[in-house]
Amino acid sequence: MSRADIKLGYSCNNECIHCVISDFRDIVLNGGMPEDISPEDYKQELLDSRKRTDRVVFTGGEPTIRKELLDLVAFARDIGFGITMQTNGRKLADPGFAAALCSIAPINFCIALHGHTAEIHDAITQKPGSFYDTIQGIRNVIELRQGAGFLTGKIVISKVNAPYLLQTAKLMINLGFTTINLTFPHACGNARKDFFDVVPTYTEISESLLNAIDLCMLSGVSVDTETIPYCFLPNVEHIAVEIAMAEAGYTELKQYGFEEKIVDWSQKRLEIKEKFPQCKECRFDRVCEGPWNEYPQNYGSEEFKPVYGEPVTSIEQLKKHRHIPTDRRSRSFRYELDI
Ligand code: SF4
Repeated sequence: MSRADIKLGYSCNNECIHCVISDFRDIVLNGGMPEDISPEDYKQELLDSRKRTDRVVFTGGEPTIRKELLDLVAFARDIGFGITMQTNGRKLADPGFAAALCSIAPINFCIALHGHTAEIHDAITQKPGSFYDTIQGIRNVIELRQGAGFLTGKIVISKVNAPYLLQTAKLMINLGFTTINLTFPHACGNARKDFFDVVPTYTEISESLLNAIDLCMLSGVSVDTETIPYCFLPNVEHIAVEIAMAEAGYTELKQYGFEEKIVDWSQKRLEIKEKFPQCKECRFDRVCEGPWNEYPQNYGSEEFKPVYGEPVTSIEQLKKHRHIPTDRRSRSFRYELDI
């Protein structure tokens, strides 16, 4: 299904260490423009995007803190959009607001939770109290949506939470998420400014990441990864979200403050990722997008070791790479984590 990601405002009640939009916020504020576009302009952009796409992703900044959000979501519904809400979930802790939002339409929620404790999550959002707000917001949405739409929990991996991906996935499973998304940080915005404090290496997250993936699979919860090259997804290559992105086709991005008014994200994201000479020997070369290009600029490319074997030349072939966790791992995980 074609999709429009609408980043038309940058106000937020968190200040995440990995936040990608702070550069754009600086551009609009330094240019004397408001932090968020007006509701009237927002509706015009929705109408325009509807000509090319079927689903709108409300994102930002934090969409739920816009006071006109309910009106904008109803407008998007009325012009025929399917609706996804990408949110930090804090405002959803208000049961009245959560109920009003969920009553408008079946919404696919994608709620970010970056750690299994307040100490870790709040260190990443840089807002004390945000963990408990988000947990309550998740509980409210689960109760209110009654199965309507998807409910994805998003973990943006950073140096702070990388050792605890398994524990964070466990909390998300117990909360009731139907899908868990593990995203590698893109070093724009805050992650660019503090690269070495925020962005881990793929090597250092590898074990923690694979354990979290196995736990999701063993628990029957859908799991996907974003911007993790296949050489770091042994036997679970089929869960890379880039597969779904390639199948989804056209995705447009509207990024307030960006010189291009409409970006074809399905193409653009390939231009800002990087591959390496050794990739030519890799069986996944034809289907792999590689990491964001800021990564090798800072950490080099030696970690990316070609995977040898029969070349994988299509998405269909890639989807067949299914991992079956062993009995041993299954038993020990269930015992240790009480799932
Ligand atoms: S093509 Fe390169 S980046 Fe992609 S999986 Fe292979 S070695 Fe890794």
